[in-house]
Amino acid sequence: MIPGSTINVLRSQRVLCGNDICPAVILIKDGKIKSILPETALTLDAGETEKVVDVGSKLIIPGIIDCHVHVNEPGRTTWEGYWTATQAAAAGGVTTIVDMPLNSIPPTTTLENLRDKIQAAEGKCFVDTAFWGGVVPGNHWELRPMIKAGVVGFKCFLIHSGVDEFPHVTDSDLHVTLEQLKGTGSVLLVSPLLSNFSTSDPCEYSTFLRSRPDTMEMEAIRTVTQLCLRYQVRCHIVHLSSAQALGLIQEARLAGAPLTVETTHHYLTLCAENIPPRATQFKCCPPIRGKANQEQLWSALKSGLIDMVVSDHSPCIPDLKTLQTGDFFQAWGGISSLQLGLSLFWTTASNKGFSVLDMVRLLCQKPAELCCLDNQKGSLSPGHDADLVIWDPDDEFEVKDANIFHKNKLTPYLGCKLRGVVYATVVRGKIVYSQGSFSPQPLGKHLFITQPQANEEQSSFAS
Ligand SMILES: [Zn+2]
Repeated sequence: MIPGSTINVLRSQRVLCGNDICPAVILIKDGKIKSILPETALTLDAGETEKVVDVGSKLIIPGIIDCHVHVNEPGRTTWEGYWTATQAAAAGGVTTIVDMPLNSIPPTTTLENLRDKIQAAEGKCFVDTAFWGGVVPGNHWELRPMIKAGVVGFKCFLIHSGVDEFPHVTDSDLHVTLEQLKGTGSVLLVSPLLSNFSTSDPCEYSTFLRSRPDTMEMEAIRTVTQLCLRYQVRCHIVHLSSAQALGLIQEARLAGAPLTVETTHHYLTLCAENIPPRATQFKCCPPIRGKANQEQLWSALKSGLIDMVVSDHSPCIPDLKTLQTGDFFQAWGGISSLQLGLSLFWTTASNKGFSVLDMVRLLCQKPAELCCLDNQKGSLSPGHDADLVIWDPDDEFEVKDANIFHKNKLTPYLGCKLRGVVYATVVRGKIVYSQGSFSPQPLGKHLFITQPQANEEQSSFAS
């Protein structure tokens, strides 16, 4: 498989066809899936057989949609940038990322800043890229213009976000925001972060964990569920770490709140009990909690109470992780894992009895629905974009510096052995990654979202 080349006919003994995995041939035309045929039904004219790319028994599923990625460009491009982030995504079977509005400078909180963002991403994306906007105090008049320009939705914080240029909102800001979003079809992402102060040893992980107790995440989620119910605007809880909030979420949904929830690979993979002192590469906010909590998160994924799993890829330069002092309170709170999501998830999920179908629901279909991309991405269906990941669910690899494509390679997963090896990634019919190599040119495009409920005609930027 030559990176950069176009696939017209793709054959495998294991293709996800509806609810089954079976031998099939995927026909691709103009970047879209034309049809998926049983192997025996394929008839080719003379001279066409060389067009068939046969991947043997490698499994083919839809490309992953990671809708929680901090690319940080422009402004903090030393932390991560579009070129490296989207190469890492491609190497991990991710065919679409949605970039968060904060940690770049400027943050994506105005139409003008969105234009800066799009310009910064121009010509650098190896996979398709969409953009979240941000809500900060006083920018409510920017929200509808940004919706028209095609942002997926908006993110806000209830406490300090971690960067000064993206201040958190108050209750009254939330009301104004939801008034603005009402009837637009757009979605508000809320980060349920709150924190306590602590005087104990800052190099012990347990001190950091106690400063961000479950009860605070609960309080924040209670606020969100009430507002979601009242305004009937889609709300989405990002990076849920505490299983204690699940009851509240279920209640709100039963009462009619259009509420969705994500958790991240790190809450499903890492445990507070196993984090050594001073190991600040494990720091993220909200914090990684205990094993019992983690089991409840897995149960909620199985039942559908948690809708999706994302990376919340949030890297920084090594100095900001303060590994020299090991102070959890001083270190940047963010974990890098964009490239590893498929394998992190599958390593544990396959042991817990999750199927490939569950995986596609949690990593592809539900994120596509959240982002209003489900009419073109997230499933192997005729008419959908030919975004594919070709991988071996039984093969294993060890995470090493040398095989990580993130700009900064520090990650708590170094040295871990993971199951699920990505061989190739296809975006709209073109091979963007194959066994360690990328297409010579970035082939991703910018995605601008048209909200299905929006009445006014949507405009979009040329990309
Ligand atoms: Zn985040």
